[in-house]
Amino acid sequence: MGLPFKVEGLTPHYRNGRACRATESPAIIPLVIIDFHTHIFPPHVREGREGYVRRDATFAEMYGSPRAKIATAEELLRSMDEAGVEVSVALGFAWRDHQDCVRHNDYLLETAAKSGGRIVPFCTVNPLAGEAAAREVERCADGGVRGLGELRPDSQGWALDGPAGDMLAELASRRDLILLFHVTEPVGHEYPGKLGLRLDSFYRFAVGHLQLKLVGAHLAGGLPLYAPMPAVRRALPGAYADTAALRYLYKPSVLPAVASASGGSEGERLLFGSDFPLVGQAAALAEVRGSGLEEAPLRRVLGENAVRLLGGPVT
Ligand SMILES: [Zn+2]
Repeated sequence: MGLPFKVEGLTPHYRNGRACRATESPAIIPLVIIDFHTHIFPPHVREGREGYVRRDATFAEMYGSPRAKIATAEELLRSMDEAGVEVSVALGFAWRDHQDCVRHNDYLLETAAKSGGRIVPFCTVNPLAGEAAAREVERCADGGVRGLGELRPDSQGWALDGPAGDMLAELASRRDLILLFHVTEPVGHEYPGKLGLRLDSFYRFAVGHLQLKLVGAHLAGGLPLYAPMPAVRRALPGAYADTAALRYLYKPSVLPAVASASGGSEGERLLFGSDFPLVGQAAALAEVRGSGLEEAPLRRVLGENAVRLLGGPVT
């Protein structure tokens, strides 16, 4: 599945869905806003929420309350129109049951195919399903998926530094897939779904797989805050962090602090993500825009980094 615009070449810019010539003045080249972290579910999951709550402990923890929002692709597209988001990465859920993963993946692939490139699908598997999980990743890659996520090894009960992690790394490398993990803050308040992947596990995986395209959700559990440590800074170039659910975890002023501490061009490893529908896309955008990031890093965070990661070569 390609993006609805060319990443390299002469006309990488879009305005209201129309390509604009790259020769126009940079001052009026609009920014393509990409939300790297949204969740959509097939309608049957929302309608049958009770049944899924009974059979999947992680789903029960996160969606057991009827107040926890579950959105469909149509609702995501409507939200994108309202918020001015051009493209959203739609993530799957880390179901324990293999067939639940497959059904959800089907929905992500189908709705993305109908979206004209506005929804970029990421699928999920449970590596404990072994060969079936590997085959499912191949099927999703054939179907146009750009990555796997939101991955939760600690919720599904497998170790990232074992055979399951090796399998994912091999598949991601061979099929050019991005791996997006829910990374758990080692400190801070408890919340439903906090357990996903320990920060130190994510760090070790990133250090051991510098060639992979990795995204740590929720500011990668705080990993960029350790950027002043040279060893961590060396590990960071392989990993991006998204801003999903920022308002529940940090003061927005963390963004300029992290952007300038991480080295390279300011903000080059940060991705705007809302965690829709937990957080509205318009509200999440307003928060990032009001965080104090300067113009250039803000443009990187809101879209330019995502364009490079999704469509262009890794730098
Ligand atoms: Zn998450």
